[in-house]
Amino acid sequence: MSAPASGAVSIAGVSKRFGSVAALETLDLEIPAGSFFSLLGPSGCGKTTLLRIIAGLEEPDEGKVLADGIDITKRPPERRPFNMVFQNYALFPHMTVAENVAFGLTTAPRRDRISDRERAERVSEALRLVSLEELGPRYPSELSGGQAQRVAVARALVNRPKVLLLDEPLSALDRNVRFALREELLRIHQDLGTTFVFVTHDQDEALSISQLVGVMNAGRLEQVADPQTIYRAPETLFTARFIGAGSFFAAEVLDCGDGRAEVRVADRRFSAADAGVARGRPAQVLLRPEELETSGNGGLSGVVETCSFFGSFFEILTRTPIGPCRLRVREVKSPGEEIAIRWPDRAGIAYPQPADTASIT
Ligand code: ATP
Repeated sequence: MSAPASGAVSIAGVSKRFGSVAALETLDLEIPAGSFFSLLGPSGCGKTTLLRIIAGLEEPDEGKVLADGIDITKRPPERRPFNMVFQNYALFPHMTVAENVAFGLTTAPRRDRISDRERAERVSEALRLVSLEELGPRYPSELSGGQAQRVAVARALVNRPKVLLLDEPLSALDRNVRFALREELLRIHQDLGTTFVFVTHDQDEALSISQLVGVMNAGRLEQVADPQTIYRAPETLFTARFIGAGSFFAAEVLDCGDGRAEVRVADRRFSAADAGVARGRPAQVLLRPEELETSGNGGLSGVVETCSFFGSFFEILTRTPIGPCRLRVREVKSPGEEIAIRWPDRAGIAYPQPADTASIT
């Protein structure tokens, strides 16, 4: 599919304070036209504030918002080519599903108003898009949570925005419904090519459906990259800790160069990817659970503390002489069981030890 011609969003030097709280530090971000972009971060990191600034529901203290290169910072929400889906559906209870969806068309400027026939066609098209074409006559009270959220998506898409802004749209739903709706959103995105900007604090959700993820921390963007890069090569210790499971070891950097760092963790030496460490300085090394495996004999000795079942594997947390260590195994292990861990020669990522922490586990 060729790149859509419109729907790019640029954030240039945007900052926002609420009293003494800096919700957003000076922030720059490019959201490509047609992308599925997620803003991911812990509670309070500023993702909703950023989304609301893009929507025009909040004004930045400084900086600009651009849509396809045009400065829209001063435009009210209804004059932006965007639409928003909220966490709690926000459907009108006294209107049918079809009327709720049609309401999305009434916010268009007068000159863009359409005929009754076209309105009916657009409503059917939007309901078809979310697989609810049969439910037009129902009222919101007669819908499940997943169906209500689909109606909210249809209402937001009915006037064909260039960008759909989604503020934690799945977080109020049960797990199975959430998974089904994730796939539905992916399909709709593929069908329409509209830019989706999706806010979530759920890393699995962000990694599974996005083309690009922006990881936020305390009003700043830590990293913007595709999900695999975010998982396999987190640029900062914050992203490394926030994304996925892993074990962190305090290490000494013996040497570094060409993107690799020779590190020592207790009496073990190995080569890790270099995320900005310096020779002779302390580091934190991240190892993902899938980088470690049990060995028949020899290796690092560990005692199983917990064993969690994930369907296709078990994840065990072990206590070892060099610290807590997480790995994946195929067979169930019992707490207290002793195992041997094969330590790789090349593994993990070495981050500079933050100045204010002695060690992070
Ligand atoms: P969550 O996942 O919990 O919704 P978030 O990452 O979306 O969090 P924001 O809602 O953007 O975070 O909030 C960022 C910071 O700004 C927080 O410290 C929050 O308390 C503060 N904040 C947001 N809106 C307001 C407001 N209207 N008045 C005062 N402080 C606010």
